[in-house]
Amino acid sequence: MRKMICIACPIGCHLEVSDDLIVTGNQCPKGETYAINELKNPMRIVTSTVVIEGAIHKRLPVRTASEIPKNLIMDCMKQINHVVVKAPVKMGDVIIKNVLNTGVDIIASRSMKKL
Ligand code: SF4
Repeated sequence: MRKMICIACPIGCHLEVSDDLIVTGNQCPKGETYAINELKNPMRIVTSTVVIEGAIHKRLPVRTASEIPKNLIMDCMKQINHVVVKAPVKMGDVIIKNVLNTGVDIIASRSMKKL
């Protein structure tokens, strides 16, 4: 039996998943989908920052454009930590294309003008 909290909406149902993957405690079907995915292939949005040169701030917030497998987060962070970009940057600009061959880009979370 595994216990977890569904994060698919703000209600946060307390879920229980039996060894044969029967989900209880969910108030809607999304909870079952969340619980099964969380056990079989957990996915996460990754947020971080990269160094930016020539901008008002020294670091630019970035994130994955969509979720990536949870087990790739550390390798993803290693790639992000090596990136240096130059201002200006627009929100949504691709910072790393197809990170770790996931098909997901790392994108800028905000715009940042030149100094
Ligand atoms: S099971 Fe449905 S209602 Fe409950 S937290 Fe998940 S999405 Fe929300």
